[in-house]
Amino acid sequence: MLFQDADFQKLLLLHSRDRRFQKLRQDVKELPEELARMEKKIAVEKESVELALAEWKGLESENNSLEKEILSMNESINRQRNKQLEVKKNEEYQALENEISNLLAKIEDRENEQIEILLKIDGARETAELAQGKITERVAEMEKQRDERAEQGEEKKTELLDLEKEIEQTRQEVEPSFLSSYDRVTTIVSRPPYMAPISDQKCSGCHLRVSNDVVSSALVEKKITQCDQCGRIVYIER
Ligand SMILES: [Zn+2]
Repeated sequence: MLFQDADFQKLLLLHSRDRRFQKLRQDVKELPEELARMEKKIAVEKESVELALAEWKGLESENNSLEKEILSMNESINRQRNKQLEVKKNEEYQALENEISNLLAKIEDRENEQIEILLKIDGARETAELAQGKITERVAEMEKQRDERAEQGEEKKTELLDLEKEIEQTRQEVEPSFLSSYDRVTTIVSRPPYMAPISDQKCSGCHLRVSNDVVSSALVEKKITQCDQCGRIVYIER
């Protein structure tokens, strides 16, 4: 029974380290893209706050210009009224009166516009304040997650370097013929695992049924047995 053999256990150890190494290397490789995705989401959230604030500020400034316009029209009405006190001719008086009523009509239009804008301002202010509160909170949470991922990434890089050394060490300790069989399998099997236990006469790597010869070889032989379907190194955990 090869499974309990110390040399075979070393090979299993190498296999598990190799798999961990591949997983870590993949994670580290994907990290920059993942961080960029998170960064983009944060930017979108921040932008939505900026937009809400800009909308609100824009309405406020529209309101201010209307306010100024109304004020200046009222001032001109006062000037026309003062002129009316000085004119002698009836038609001059009437002309001023017409200007005044034109201005009053304009003021009414502007005041109606102003009412609409003031209503919009209420909504926009509420939206902007809500956005500032909630989104700022969400952004802080997202930034925290991003920093954590970046930190985990750095830890994984360190672990990867340590693991590389461990794998080098383990490879030196594995029985040479086992190691060469293993290395050969890693080149023919398209993806890990490269070693798989047999259970219910099935290879747990490819999930196909192995022949009786493979089972008996795995049970009896002191050499490496490979799955006759996928080529993985198979063993029986017993
Ligand atoms: Zn198989």
